[in-house]
Amino acid sequence: MTYKLGGSSPESDNADSTAAVSVHDSQSLYWLEEPLQHLFEKVERAKQEWEATADSLPELICLVNEQGRVLRANRTVETWNLGRVTAVQGLDLHELIHPECTGLFCYLKRFLQQAREKANKGQRDKLEAYDPILQRHLLIRVQPISAQKKVAPSTTVVVVQDVTKHKQIEEALRRYTKRLESINEIQNAILAARSPEEIAHAALSRIMHLVPFYQARVALAKPESDDFYVLIADAIGETYLRPGKSFPGQIFKGSEERSPDKFFVIRDLASLAAPSVMEKLLLKEGICSYVSIPLVAEGEFIGSFGLGCSNPDAFSDEHVEIASEVADLLAIATRQAQLTAKLNQANGKLQEALRAKDEMVQNVSHELRTPLGIIYGYTQVIESAELGPLTSGQQRALWVMHQQGDRLRFMVDRLLVLQTFDTGKLQRVQLDLNAWLRQILGPWETRALQAVPSVLFKAEMPCESALLLADEGLLGQVMVNLLDNALKFSPAGGAVCVHARVQDGQIVISVSDEGIGIPPDKLEQIFGRFFQVDGSVRRRFGGIGIGLALCRAIVEAHGGRIWAESQGEGRGSIFYVALPADDGSEGGTGDG
Ligand code: ADP
Repeated sequence: MTYKLGGSSPESDNADSTAAVSVHDSQSLYWLEEPLQHLFEKVERAKQEWEATADSLPELICLVNEQGRVLRANRTVETWNLGRVTAVQGLDLHELIHPECTGLFCYLKRFLQQAREKANKGQRDKLEAYDPILQRHLLIRVQPISAQKKVAPSTTVVVVQDVTKHKQIEEALRRYTKRLESINEIQNAILAARSPEEIAHAALSRIMHLVPFYQARVALAKPESDDFYVLIADAIGETYLRPGKSFPGQIFKGSEERSPDKFFVIRDLASLAAPSVMEKLLLKEGICSYVSIPLVAEGEFIGSFGLGCSNPDAFSDEHVEIASEVADLLAIATRQAQLTAKLNQANGKLQEALRAKDEMVQNVSHELRTPLGIIYGYTQVIESAELGPLTSGQQRALWVMHQQGDRLRFMVDRLLVLQTFDTGKLQRVQLDLNAWLRQILGPWETRALQAVPSVLFKAEMPCESALLLADEGLLGQVMVNLLDNALKFSPAGGAVCVHARVQDGQIVISVSDEGIGIPPDKLEQIFGRFFQVDGSVRRRFGGIGIGLALCRAIVEAHGGRIWAESQGEGRGSIFYVALPADDGSEGGTGDG
């Protein structure tokens, strides 16, 4: 038997002697056997490699010849229902993918043609497009097998990837980012708004770009009643649902599930068996679908937010989600605005009360001053024995009256100064620190000794001289007040020490004592008006708690600072006054 190498009929006995080779002619076949064997092995290996790689991939991979016909396709051709692997060989690639396409204006046909031309020049090509026939988003890559340029015509590998899922994820991400941006914008607008009305406007004017609606309504629950107050209502004809109007909550209630404090979506209003008054009204207004979201802030129901649309089933899940997010923002911001309004109202009332109290204190002080002056004057007249001689008992009684009158006048004067204190009216003059302090402290050594109980008094002046620009009278009151307190709160034999130093352009004067001390948490409070560490009626020490408040007002008006230090109760106190030293450049102005 003979075979034709590449011949047609194995049975042909009349074979051409030059072309045919006898199978028995082992000598003449020998030169072919080895390379053929080699070739078969190569082909087998290539087949296995193809199966191991191409068939295991989800992409459609085709080996295409220079005419665009499929030489080989991987198994994806079957997964995509385009035909069997064995049956697609020889088919035009475009016809394989688009079996019923006329190809007239087909994007794929045009692309494959153009890609083949490029492949013939050794170039790759790529296209990403939605395929309306396969209804998939495709990424098609065409690559010539020979990477060498200008080797034509070329066999190509065409890889068709289904990127529909990627595209869907990409699109969802894009939409989500856009939504986040819009929600963020709504949040900023809401935060910038002040009143609940402004907040509702800010939210609705922006949500319309994200959710389609024909009618919107924000109503707030009125405290301690079933009524609602309309903040904003859009495209509703009924007068009692106009902004600024109140309406009974009853008109909202359809069923248990459809009440204003519940979240619900009505896909088709017309299909409701028992519509509420509100739902009937919306139907009349041409609303077909409806979303109602309760406004809840810190667990408390504060109102209701509703969106309506003129076509049924208008709100997708995403729309409802967005509306809920906006409702959450609305609720928080509205609550905040309500609280701020309440706080402002309370603050206004408090300011009013404080003003009335200040006025009252000022009036009372004024009224006290006149009779006090008269009493004081008559005490002096009696004391001088102008109205007749006095017994020693009467003299002692008068002395006590005089002392107490002095104290009362001191307190009333301080009260008046504090109430009428005006920073703009300081009468500043240039003072020499040493001379001024000496003059202030002069009488205090004697006063300390005469005090009951008596106290030791020490003063340490600065070695260097310094100037300060101050209202002499007012600054004098600060010193008097600190010294008066130091004596008042000192035990018998306790030492009161005044110390002054100049440091870094600052004059620091301190008044220390060994008295009752001040608890750490009260060190700042004692500078408040009418504050006393011991404010009880049974307190040991007199006073009305205004001296230090006045001291702080005066010192701060001079651009200085006043503060107290103490190791605690029973361990004495030190009061510091720091004032800017005058470098002499300004001189006394006399008007502060
Ligand atoms: P008051 O007229 O009550 O003395 P102040 O404003 O001068 O008013 O002082 C306020 C409060 O500060 C005092 O009631 C006292 O509790 C406390 N305080 C002031 N100075 C001293 C001090 N040197 N030692 C202890 N406590 C003091």
